[in-house]
Amino acid sequence: MSGTTDASSVEVSTSAPWIEAQTHVLLAQRGHAWLLQGPSGLGQYPLAMAMVRAWLCDEPSMHGACGTCGSCHAIDVRTHADLCVLMPETDMLALGWPLSEKAQSDIDDKKRKPSKEIRVEAMRDAVEFCQRTSARGRGKAVLVYPAERMNTVTANALLKTLEEPPGDVKFILASEAAHQLLPTIRSRCLGHSMSWPTEVQCLTWLREQGVGQADAPVWLKAAGGRPADALALAQSGRERSSWAALPMAMARGEVATVQDWSPAELVTALQKLCHDMLATAVLAPPRFFNPADLPRAVPVATLAQWSKSLRDSARTVEHPFNAGLMLESLVSQARNALNSNR
Ligand SMILES: [Zn+2]
Repeated sequence: MSGTTDASSVEVSTSAPWIEAQTHVLLAQRGHAWLLQGPSGLGQYPLAMAMVRAWLCDEPSMHGACGTCGSCHAIDVRTHADLCVLMPETDMLALGWPLSEKAQSDIDDKKRKPSKEIRVEAMRDAVEFCQRTSARGRGKAVLVYPAERMNTVTANALLKTLEEPPGDVKFILASEAAHQLLPTIRSRCLGHSMSWPTEVQCLTWLREQGVGQADAPVWLKAAGGRPADALALAQSGRERSSWAALPMAMARGEVATVQDWSPAELVTALQKLCHDMLATAVLAPPRFFNPADLPRAVPVATLAQWSKSLRDSARTVEHPFNAGLMLESLVSQARNALNSNR
C-alpha cells in the first residue's frame, strides 16, 4: 500500500511508456554511476533494470536492450555473470533474484530470517565482483535498490568502489529516500529524478494490467498518482467503494471497516486522510480522496497533532505489539481528530 510496505513486489514494466522515455534520455548521456531518486511507485526498479539490460546487451539501440540476445536472456532468467544485484534479501526473493548459497542455506536452515537491509556480506561479494574480469566482454553492472537500505558499513564499502571504479563496471543506484544516503555517495553519482507519468499514461497502463475502467481512476487517486502503488491497491481485493467510504467510517470510529487491514496499511491510509483534511482546511484540493467523501472541516491544530502521532506510528508499525489493538487505537485516534471542534 505504501513505499514502506512491499510495494516492490508490484512494479511497472520496463516497457511502460514513461520508463522507456527515461531510459532513452539516460542512455544518451555518459556516466558510470547513476542515482535514480523519487517517491515509490514511479518505477525506479524497472528503469534501473532497463539501464543494466541496455549496458550489457549485445545489440543495444538508443532506446535500450534488444530483448533477444544471449545477454538479455541471461538477465531474464537471473543468471547473468556480469550483473550484480544488491538488494535486501526480502526484495531479492520477492523479485525472483537468487541469494548467495550461504545466505540461502542460512535461511533454509532457519538460522535467520531474510534480511530487510542490504547485508554487508552481499556488499563484500559485490566488491569482489567488481574486481573480476567481465565474463561476456561487455563490461559489468551493479544495481543497488533500494539504496537507502544500506547501513553505514555497507555504504562505505560501496563508496570505496565508487571512488576507484575498476574500468568496466557501471553502477545504478535507485532510492525512494535519497536524502538518507551518505552525501559522499550522492556526490559520486549522476542524479536523475524520476519523472511522473501523466494521468492518461497511468490510466492506460493500469487498464493494460487488467484494472477495470471504473476502478483505475479511484485507485490512482488513492495512490496519489503513483502507478505501481495504484496497481497494488487495485490488486488488494478491496472494493473501490471501500476507499470512498473510509473517511466517514473513520469519523464514526468503525473498526469493523478496517478489520482486515494491516496496521501499516491503515497508518498509510490515515496519513492520506489527514493530508487531505489539512489540504481542504487551507482551501487546497484534496489529493487522495474526493472532496465529497471527506468529513466536515476540523481545526488545523488538531490535524497537525494527529499528523504527528501518525508519523510516530509509522515508525513502529512494522512490528506492532498487537495488530488488533493497534488498529483499534488508530481508529479511535482518527475518530477523536475528525470530531474535534476546536
Ligand atoms: Zn540484448
